[in-house]
Amino acid sequence: MTVPAVSFEFFPPRSIEASFRLQDTVRALSTLDPRFVSVTYGAGGTTRQLTREAVVALRRSTDLDVAAHLTCVDASREETLDLASQMADAGVREIVALRGDPPAGEAGFRPHSQGFASSVELIAALAETGRFSDIRVGAYPDVHPDAADSAANIDWLKRKIDAGATEALTQFFFEPETFLRFRDACASAGIDAPITPGILPVENWASAQRFATRCGAQIPDPVASLFERAERDDRTDLLAVAFASELCGDLIEEGVEALHFYTLNRPELTRDICLALGVQPRVALRDVA
Ligand code: FAD
Repeated sequence: MTVPAVSFEFFPPRSIEASFRLQDTVRALSTLDPRFVSVTYGAGGTTRQLTREAVVALRRSTDLDVAAHLTCVDASREETLDLASQMADAGVREIVALRGDPPAGEAGFRPHSQGFASSVELIAALAETGRFSDIRVGAYPDVHPDAADSAANIDWLKRKIDAGATEALTQFFFEPETFLRFRDACASAGIDAPITPGILPVENWASAQRFATRCGAQIPDPVASLFERAERDDRTDLLAVAFASELCGDLIEEGVEALHFYTLNRPELTRDICLALGVQPRVALRDVA
């Protein structure tokens, strides 16, 4: 089986303790030679400065390629582009450009009066700066809840690529067929940018279900039963590694060459899945455990 290239997504820490956890996570996962790592931008724009600080700190303290997530929520165009420019000044060349979700409690995305009205506008403006080598975007194999239908879901992704995006990272999903059908439909629609599957190692089944409901990821009944039983038996970690390794293995068999992991700032499951897929650590595991 081909060994995949991997990338890891982190969220910015909100406390000293969380900062130590992020450092430990980065230390453990950086040995797996990621293609890049990325730092999210809190829903509702809540972590704007924390994201910038975490991205800049990672750039300075590691040799990793670090991508900053950026959304259109609750900021003017000028503020958003200013933040992007501060990142570029700090040597960041990679952005994950998103429309974003509204703050908790608000229904639906409402553009800021002076802000970008959509991800397509944000992507075009970032591309126009010429300061970013990679502009990655979100993609939705299970169809985004705001898309009219699956054709509209794919048309919109095409518009994002045409606006200057270089790669799509998908929302997580539970069956390889979901991704493979989406990849085929994207190819038929003339999307030629790479589409990298997003993988969620399930740390906690209740949270995974909440995330899935929010982003429209479909949970097949047999998968739900498996995880419910594993939770009862206190074996979620074992199942999570076996399940994600099999999902990734099936994708690799179908020609997938890169995987993006939603780490939730916990390295253990992601590391075990990567090792199961044959990703070789740079140093002996005993040195990073
Ligand atoms: P878009 O692709 O722009 O829109 C989503 C769907 O809505 C599209 O499929 C399209 O069909 C429809 N749509 C939207 N606007 C229009 C329009 N004008 N006309 C027609 N159809 C339209 N959220 C955060 O807050 N912070 C993060 O750091 C973050 N990181 C993420 C990373 C990845 C890899 C992914 C997949 C998602 C991430 N999200 C993040 C979640 C994301 O913000 C939400 O899913 C959000 O609802 C959509 O953002 P988007 O840029 O992908 O949306």
